Amino acid sequence: MTSTGTTPMHTTDTTVRASDYFGALTFSGDVMLKHLAPDVCETLRRTMNHGLPLDPAAANAVATAMKDWALEHGVTHYSHWFQPLTGLTAEKHDAFLSPTGDNGALEKFSGDALIRGEPDASSFPSGGIRDTYEARGYTAWDATSPVFIMRGGNGQGTLCIPTVFVSWTGEALDKKTPLLRSIHAVTSQAMRVLRIFGTDAGVSSVFSTLGCEQEYFLVDRELFHERLDLSVCGRTMVGAAPPKGQQLEDHYFGAIPDRVLAFMADAERRLFELGVPVKTRHNEVAPGQYEIAPTFENANVAVDHQMLTMQVLRQTARAHGFECLLHEKPFAKVNGSGKHINWSLSTDTGANLLDPRDETHTNMQFLVFLCAAIRAVDVHAGLLRASIASAHNDHRLGANEAPPAIMSVYLGDMLTDILDQLEQGKPRSTAKGGALDLGARSVPSIPRHASDRNRTSPFAFTGNKFEFRAVGASQAVAWPSTVVNTIVAESLDVIATELERRLTERPTAEQLEQAVRSVLQDVVKRHRRVCFDGNGYSAAWHKEAAKRGLPNYPSTAEALKELVSKRAEHLFASYGVLTPRELHARHEIQVEQYCKIVQIEGRTLSTMVHTQILPAAMRAQGELAEICIATERAGTRVPEAKAALRMVAGHVKALRTAVAALDSALAREVPDLEKRMQHCRKSVMGAIERVRSAADELERRVPADIWPLPTYAQMLLMR
Ligand code: ADP
Ligand code: MG
Repeated sequence: MTSTGTTPMHTTDTTVRASDYFGALTFSGDVMLKHLAPDVCETLRRTMNHGLPLDPAAANAVATAMKDWALEHGVTHYSHWFQPLTGLTAEKHDAFLSPTGDNGALEKFSGDALIRGEPDASSFPSGGIRDTYEARGYTAWDATSPVFIMRGGNGQGTLCIPTVFVSWTGEALDKKTPLLRSIHAVTSQAMRVLRIFGTDAGVSSVFSTLGCEQEYFLVDRELFHERLDLSVCGRTMVGAAPPKGQQLEDHYFGAIPDRVLAFMADAERRLFELGVPVKTRHNEVAPGQYEIAPTFENANVAVDHQMLTMQVLRQTARAHGFECLLHEKPFAKVNGSGKHINWSLSTDTGANLLDPRDETHTNMQFLVFLCAAIRAVDVHAGLLRASIASAHNDHRLGANEAPPAIMSVYLGDMLTDILDQLEQGKPRSTAKGGALDLGARSVPSIPRHASDRNRTSPFAFTGNKFEFRAVGASQAVAWPSTVVNTIVAESLDVIATELERRLTERPTAEQLEQAVRSVLQDVVKRHRRVCFDGNGYSAAWHKEAAKRGLPNYPSTAEALKELVSKRAEHLFASYGVLTPRELHARHEIQVEQYCKIVQIEGRTLSTMVHTQILPAAMRAQGELAEICIATERAGTRVPEAKAALRMVAGHVKALRTAVAALDSALAREVPDLEKRMQHCRKSVMGAIERVRSAADELERRVPADIWPLPTYAQMLLMR
């Protein structure tokens, strides 16, 4: 790769410990202690930990302290930071500065400005909830997520206040509001289960935990800007496979290139300052592909931190002469990028409710949470699929690399064995992994897990948490997390209700065990069909899944209807997560987004073909024709050159035909939204694929000095 000579934002000073600056740009911990009077600090802490309201006097004191702290960092503006339905984050900056009327000015920030904002709600997608003449919307401070200072590429900082975003009517216009509601739903149902088991002593709350692994590609910034498709769509719309892709499997976990490592260290430093506990970094499977993963946190904070992670990766990459691609499938023929969201439930006393512990077969409480998750995925497989549906993710799901589009649960041998035992009666044993004798004397034997791993499963139990692997790399994780929380809340509710019905006020341990066993037996019998430990890529599984009645939606255009099924409406309304109107609004926005993305991709491709690829191909054709004429005029016959000319001319013709078909598919106006989505999926996407294959044929035949676009080999392999 060419070096751009851009200076990195930070140089890594190895004498400074990360723990010294961790969270330095968040208003929490020591910063709070230093800037607030002890009683205000205590009030704020209660608000942050339990979401209790802050009285106006305390709010003013907190706002003033935040402003003073921000000014110390050279920050001039503050912003309510929220997650509208665009899937991105939004911010509107206001200066602290207020004129005093005598040609002077003061820096001010009031409690009211901290707690509430009023952005224009009509300019964000609302799915019909708000019209242009009904503009009023509010942002409201979510004190359970820390306030932070975000720096732009030029070092300019803004005080960012995490907020929810709602309409004047009270309806949610963002992704955080339903997330918070879903966390409340799942944690209150989980508390109910703990009460049944009598394990709630000392536990004042349960929260859902989330750890999001993020995959991404890095490409050289100069090459990125030479490609309209990457700049506009985030993915390559054409590009022949490089001679070497990922066949040799030599990139995964390989040594990280120096320039990439410098970028990673810089991004991590910036994330540490923002209090994001990033932990893991490595090369991913495809050339040019990498991963970053944090330590898990409570789901609300983890979701905010995930949004920040994407932002920081993009920003830091630019300072290092790279562009960070978060698209699900930036390059054809090598792996795409996903985001694995690791999910569990934890008590505030630190107990992970999905920890099976050693004698798992006796751990009935764990089995309740496990079976609730299995039931949830089975009952709502379609909704779960729809929660990760997007035009981008369609290239990945079911494309023989990432998890298939069929939602299933991987359990592993140990838990499968326990479910077998449970189905037949009383579970009596837990299979142990034993030890692995490595046969090399100098290496001690190592303990072996009781279950293998399965990379092909979309929803896998991985030791003490579930890992939802079908989420797309660029996706905001709030929505799929909301869905997981809500469907598990419902299953816990169903199981708890059944247990409460069967049990007396003070059951004996024996009665409790028997009731749980019989309820779970029923759940396992009904819902086990969703469990599958085999190869999720195989054709055999597709057949088997169909036999089991599991839904299989290969694309967004088929999956999205699940969002507005009667079952989904009832689910979200029952747990107060989304009203039917809020749900339908989200559906409409997703359908529109799908159509817009496909149309933008189509137009981008058409532009590239007409203005870059066809002209280059014609030049190549002209050169070949001149060679043929000149050589024959000189008295030598050139049948091979003529054949090459015929071949190029043939591909040019094919490309012209394909792009004409694309242009006419794009020109067709389809007013009905649902029909427009089907048109985009079938006609536009189909035409895009045909244009691509004709263009890729030409790329292999047009001289390199004429080909107008950086190639896959340049973007992926050279550095
Ligand atoms: P792998 O790639 O093998 O799945 P990683 O270590 O890259 O593993 O990522 C695992 C992720 O799961 C990390 O973000 C980790 O913090 C998270 N995680 C671990 N335990 C929990 C839990 N109880 N709840 C939620 N996430 C968890
Ligand atoms: Mg993982």
